[in-house]
Amino acid sequence: MLKIRCHDCDQAFIWVDDMPPRGKCPNPDCEGTYDVHQALKENLDARTSSAADSLLCPACGGVIPSRWGLCPHCGKFTAGPRSFRKRDIFLAVALFLLILSLLVRLAL
Ligand SMILES: [Zn+2]
Ligand SMILES: [Zn+2]
Repeated sequence: MLKIRCHDCDQAFIWVDDMPPRGKCPNPDCEGTYDVHQALKENLDARTSSAADSLLCPACGGVIPSRWGLCPHCGKFTAGPRSFRKRDIFLAVALFLLILSLLVRLAL
């Protein structure tokens, strides 16, 4: 089962396993075609791009263009830890450990 949105008529329908992977849009008024593999890829792209690379406003949860600045959704200044990207935290921890190991080496 997969939800597919037809590019021609913009109507969503449910594709089930006994339907062909490619075929005509079930909307009788539409001449468009669907492609399950294409739809799967689009679903995946949308999910990964929105989950991995978007910053969220700590106040309203909306997507914000940059970590420091005004949220376009609620107008609040966003500079909270929840608006950090995961990758940035990872880098900060790695850098911290690197500095720590250098300090330990200098102290001994
Ligand atoms: Zn259609
Ligand atoms: Zn906001």
